[in-house]
Amino acid sequence: MLTPRQRVILRQILSPPYIYRWAGLLTTVALMTGVTIVVLSDVGARQVLATGPAPAVAAAPAGLPARSGADAPARGMPGMARPAITPSLLTVTDTSTERPAVALTFDDGPTPQYTPEVLDILAENGVKATFCMIGNQALAHRDIVARVVAEGHRLCDHTMTHDATVGANAQDLMSEQLHRSRGSLSTVIDPPETIDYFRAPEGRWSPELDQVAAQTGMRPLGWSVDTLDWTQPGTGAIVASVQQSTHPGAVVLFHDGGGPREQTIEAVRQLVPWLKDQGYEFVFPS
Ligand SMILES: [Zn+2]
Repeated sequence: MLTPRQRVILRQILSPPYIYRWAGLLTTVALMTGVTIVVLSDVGARQVLATGPAPAVAAAPAGLPARSGADAPARGMPGMARPAITPSLLTVTDTSTERPAVALTFDDGPTPQYTPEVLDILAENGVKATFCMIGNQALAHRDIVARVVAEGHRLCDHTMTHDATVGANAQDLMSEQLHRSRGSLSTVIDPPETIDYFRAPEGRWSPELDQVAAQTGMRPLGWSVDTLDWTQPGTGAIVASVQQSTHPGAVVLFHDGGGPREQTIEAVRQLVPWLKDQGYEFVFPS
């Protein structure tokens, strides 16, 4: 029980003007706590965006297969780690690295005219890249797909027929395009290769397409440096676009199919040694 003196003090505290001061103090503390929580959760959300989602977050779309790149044995030549790719709706446009690293990607192959030449240049320089292949062409040129994998490069699903409207198709058509091309790519070689990435034809993504890709177990792969090599702007222009735009973590877009690619080949021949001279290492998108 309170003593008479304590009771007097309590009555003073609970009567004006003290009661107002207490109320003001408590309100201030409550507001500051609220602001702190909001700021901290915002920082947390930014970190997730910057570093890619944690596996628990990435598993959001229902039915995603639980897997990572780590479960696939490394093939081909050693030297480049396979990043653990988590199926996700977040499109990779820059590799998550602070190091001076760059990820080279080649679209629309494989083609007998150009892909072997690209592979020769990469091999001469001990460099790995990612090849976004069209399913029908992979079936027509299985030997090239096998060489790409044997030499330690990665495969990316670029749909069965390179139909740029796939993102606007109904879900089951989308799913069929991706499943068939992913299946074509993975079973052209034995044992089947893991296909971690999907790239929409012409970069025409749609939220539904991302969803289907993620449900198929693939990560949408974008780019941050577009060489525009498919417009055939001249070897010099392709070289310049990379030299001016490449930054640590850049994902660079080239094409080894879909039209005449002599300019691309010559540009890659110049750019790979140049990037090495600049101190860049070559990584897979992650
Ligand atoms: Zn393409």
